Amino acid sequence: MRAMVLNKIVSLEENRQPLILVDMPIPEPKPDEVLIKISVCGVCHTELDEIEGRTAPAQFPIILGHQVVGTIVKLGGETSKFKIDERVGVAWIFSACGKCKFCLDGNENLCDDFLATGRDVNGGYAEYMCVSEKYAYKIPDVFTDAEAAPLLCAGAIGYRSLKLAQLKNGQNLGLTGFGASAHLVLKMVNYRYPETKVYVFARKEKERAFANELGAFWTGNSTAVSPHKLDCIIDTTPAWKPIVHALYNLEKGGRLVINAIRKENADKEYLKALSYRSHLWLEKEIKSVANVTGKDVENFLKLAAKSGIKPEVELYPLEEANKALLELKNKKIRGGKVLRIS
Ligand SMILES: [Zn+2]
Ligand SMILES: [Zn+2]
Repeated sequence: MRAMVLNKIVSLEENRQPLILVDMPIPEPKPDEVLIKISVCGVCHTELDEIEGRTAPAQFPIILGHQVVGTIVKLGGETSKFKIDERVGVAWIFSACGKCKFCLDGNENLCDDFLATGRDVNGGYAEYMCVSEKYAYKIPDVFTDAEAAPLLCAGAIGYRSLKLAQLKNGQNLGLTGFGASAHLVLKMVNYRYPETKVYVFARKEKERAFANELGAFWTGNSTAVSPHKLDCIIDTTPAWKPIVHALYNLEKGGRLVINAIRKENADKEYLKALSYRSHLWLEKEIKSVANVTGKDVENFLKLAAKSGIKPEVELYPLEEANKALLELKNKKIRGGKVLRIS
């Protein structure tokens, strides 16, 4: 099979072709796994973190990609959830131990043995992959393969962030950063919290225009002072700077949810600007989001199908994965980027 593999950690400033096209054997499913013939795979900011080593793959070479859609072509001997030819998706969660207190509480995203698709095991930048049937999800018919891909990460993590934000209908919500995840959160909020006003903080004029198109109440650049204090803010930027501004814009007792899995180090110094009085005083909370659970993915897919939430997507052939990644790095974003594989 064709696969785009990463052989080592590199800096994208120095190496603009980090992934190499190779020919590999098709993997064999274990007894609890299914073999998927991949149709599309979404491109996520986490791939940049893997390539540059902010979250390092467990071994090399590794096939990245954790927003996988395809059809089942082979069933492991102990599976029963799916049939051949069924269309399924795979997300960031590849497996967890199933026995620890976090797993038993339905928080397998916090499991010490959490394995991530496309980081700890081979993912979806390839023609085939295997996954346990437990962590494969039926894709609702209303979505095309390409539309479904960004739902599996950007959408599911957006869903989890919104859940952790504990937003109530009518409260003001801020979104710092406006990429694949935030634009789906805005669509979800329009549907679930129709009285809520959404304030979007984004660096690029194009992103702000996109947010306005999707019904944002107000948009400003990432360092803007919000015209009103915000009850919840969800941060999806890879930077530290927006955190400082978000805390300033946060209402008393408000909650900031930091969704980006890993922050780039460059502007960490900026955190020194945090002042107790303007940013932290008056019971402001900070909560981080880690990974997703199987339930988050399942629930979000159902919600998205019911409410007509569809992501905007840009397609690239598998061989142009490096181009898609560099554009993501350079913030050339409108919705989600997706690789077309077959
Ligand atoms: Zn992702
Ligand atoms: Zn566990």
